[in-house]
Amino acid sequence: MISDEQRREAAASLRGSRGFFNSLPRTVLEPFIFDIFERVLECVGYTECNVFDYLADLVDRGECENVYDGSVQDSCDNGFLCSVCGCKVEDEEHYRVSGVWNYCPQCGRKVRHG
Ligand SMILES: [Zn+2]
Repeated sequence: MISDEQRREAAASLRGSRGFFNSLPRTVLEPFIFDIFERVLECVGYTECNVFDYLADLVDRGECENVYDGSVQDSCDNGFLCSVCGCKVEDEEHYRVSGVWNYCPQCGRKVRHG
């Protein structure tokens, strides 16, 4: 799984390659397409596997569902259990969890609603 730190490093590396791109003649990019693609893959840290899956995972953290079962004994009203990474958040003594679970606090996936 790609971490947010890896995403930030890839973004910084891509932004650091502005000069490379700006040095190319804009009117005839075709002869440099391979060099550009190779540079992009180097910036994002691509090493193996399907390059399209890798790039998709880099830009999209994916989705999960809240599978917390609030009907069992000792469960709370607004608990969270990530369907992908298993992160669990519940009420603690004197502290009630409230709000809407839009993202998993551990893996960062967007929580699908409805
Ligand atoms: Zn998660």
